[in-house]
Amino acid sequence: MHIFKTVAELEDHLSPLRSGGASIGFVPTMGALHNGHLALVNHAASENQLTIVSIFVNPTQFNNKTDLAKYPREIESDIAKLAETKCDIVFLPSEKEMYPEKTESVKIDLNGLDSVMEGAHRPGHFDGVATIVSRFFEIVKPTKAYFGEKDFQQLMIIRQLTKTLNLPVEIIGHPIERSAKGLALSSRNQLLSEADQSRSLIIWESLNWMQKNYTSYSPDTLYQAIKDRFEGSDLQLEYVHVVDENTLQPIDQWSNTEHARAFIAAFISGVRLIDNMQLF
Ligand code: AMP
Repeated sequence: MHIFKTVAELEDHLSPLRSGGASIGFVPTMGALHNGHLALVNHAASENQLTIVSIFVNPTQFNNKTDLAKYPREIESDIAKLAETKCDIVFLPSEKEMYPEKTESVKIDLNGLDSVMEGAHRPGHFDGVATIVSRFFEIVKPTKAYFGEKDFQQLMIIRQLTKTLNLPVEIIGHPIERSAKGLALSSRNQLLSEADQSRSLIIWESLNWMQKNYTSYSPDTLYQAIKDRFEGSDLQLEYVHVVDENTLQPIDQWSNTEHARAFIAAFISGVRLIDNMQLF
């Protein structure tokens, strides 16, 4: 497994392989790797000749400075985990490599995909995501890039970005990897005690409950039932939404539910968790 820190080193290594026709699978991450990330790496390795993983905590997608400061960083153990997979190249760029002086933020029309949920609650977040992902695509020139459904809205936005900018990369989604009990794996989980991780299962339970029951209630009653559950818990609910998974716009009548997906964001002990589930 090669480790490169500069665009120039990476390009020197990749350019002859690209000319030889090697397909490149790319998995961008912010590190503190868990089995969710490693599943994306295995997915990429199963479909490409070369697998590249980047680790870069992208400052421009954090709208909250404390969140950025406390985001876990564990490069040594990340590299050790990747060495156990079929990853061929780890790319560890500095901020200077990713944001040379003239980098402009990517601002494109995302068809309303960025105006709801994470976009509404984390101002500027998706501009930061779009900018960094476009920059990575320009550097790596992947054949296929892999993104988790854990960040479903991000996946949809990257699909839209790729389409709008006509980028020659196929975007592949990967299902949410969960703990044995159901908690969606996340780098932020390790900022939580075992007890808080158990308490956070209310997110998974609420999504399951919605999946079983949503057609029996009006949307308002359904949302109220979820709010009531969280009221009696240690988590603060930020939002609960059921949206059409293609447009991400709210579904306010259950008559058209074949694309319904539920989303929850909640805080526990100052850590923000998100999760989602297809309802149909
Ligand atoms: P991050 O390091 O949080 O930026 O995540 C890097 C990639 O891994 C993103 O495409 C995430 O959606 C994906 N990912 C993170 N957690 C999970 C999970 N539990 N299951 C599937 N994919 C995930």
